[in-house]
Amino acid sequence: MTARFAIAGSGPAGCYLVDALGRAAPGAVIDVFERLDEPFGLVRFGVAPDHEATRAITRVLRRPFDKGAARLHLGVEVGRDIGLASLRRDYDAVALATGAPVDRRLGVPGEELAEPSGHFIRWINGHPEAAPPARLAGARRAVVVGAGNVALDAVRLLAKHREIDCLNPLALERIDLLIRGGPEDVRFSPAELLEIGELATAWPDLDAFEDAGSEATVMLKEFSARPPGRGIPIRFHFHTQATAFLGAGRLEAVQTDRGVLPADLAVTCIGYGKAAIDGVWPTGPEPEPGLYAVGWAARGPTGTIPTNRAEARALARRMIAGLEP
Ligand SMILES: Cc1cc2nc3c(=O)[nH]c(=O)nc-3n(C[C@H](O)[C@H](O)[C@H](O)COP(=O)(O)OP(=O)(O)OC[C@H]3O[C@@H](n4cnc5c(N)ncnc54)[C@H](O)[C@@H]3O)c2cc1C
Repeated sequence: MTARFAIAGSGPAGCYLVDALGRAAPGAVIDVFERLDEPFGLVRFGVAPDHEATRAITRVLRRPFDKGAARLHLGVEVGRDIGLASLRRDYDAVALATGAPVDRRLGVPGEELAEPSGHFIRWINGHPEAAPPARLAGARRAVVVGAGNVALDAVRLLAKHREIDCLNPLALERIDLLIRGGPEDVRFSPAELLEIGELATAWPDLDAFEDAGSEATVMLKEFSARPPGRGIPIRFHFHTQATAFLGAGRLEAVQTDRGVLPADLAVTCIGYGKAAIDGVWPTGPEPEPGLYAVGWAARGPTGTIPTNRAEARALARRMIAGLEP
């Protein structure tokens, strides 16, 4: 009998699962339901527009669909347009590859004046549901909150605003990066830090500190030894938390536990959360018997695109092993 698989979500996790199922169960029916009118999840709407090589992975992700090994149903939201229960009835196994689409919030006063990173980067990438920031034209000072690669993406794109059509109206003179911990606590990858150090339009502005030995701290320390550069200073504020976003109707400043920073635009990059699908919270590879999850939906919002590939292969084996004889 031909096995029938349904997958909700066409991000890298869903697409890698399609590929793995297609290889492990040739001839199986595989239907992918994607809520947006465009596939590939964060590869399309999250990865920064200047990271062309990473975005080119869509060529790999689309292959099983191009070869006819699976069908892609765009504009179909599982839980809204089609129920999870009906999918479970009509298919031998169902997998949730729906990601972690909810922006985490700091929970401080005035936060509605700041842009959460998921929303901000979706907007830069032309997502149909993402509205532009309230204040863009002529904005001179930006504050970015966070200590991970998404924060560095936001800083880098802001620093290159002249080269990015939708950010071109900005007139940035300064970027302040607020980092809750010290240099030893950052989750920046060396490749992303290298890009900050090589910007033609901005320069990293750090005070000297004692190096803790990790690759990121060594790079940050090297930044701190540089003389002032040309263009926009990117001021790294370690051990600094945003405690309120200030302004009447539009952002005017960010209150931190160390003082007030004037700001026309603020972007918070503090992670993401999952969403329930028809009342089911995806957790782990098999949230309910016969219902599976993969990628950020399964393990939370950590890891890069290749992490989803290894996980999808393991899940395909588990789904096939779980088919009724
Ligand atoms: C801003 C940002 C930048 C990143 N940059 C990089 C990078 O440069 N390099 C790298 O390796 N990793 C990067 N990552 C991480 C990478 O994007 C993730 O590892 C990967 O996208 C997770 O894949 P996923 O399929 O689990 O989720 P997603 O990519 O989020 O895909 C989930 C898909 O499910 C769809 N969906 C959601 N709910 C439903 C529903 N109910 N019904 C149908 N469809 C639904 C969504 O529309 C989406 O298409 C970045 C992440 C972010 C947030």
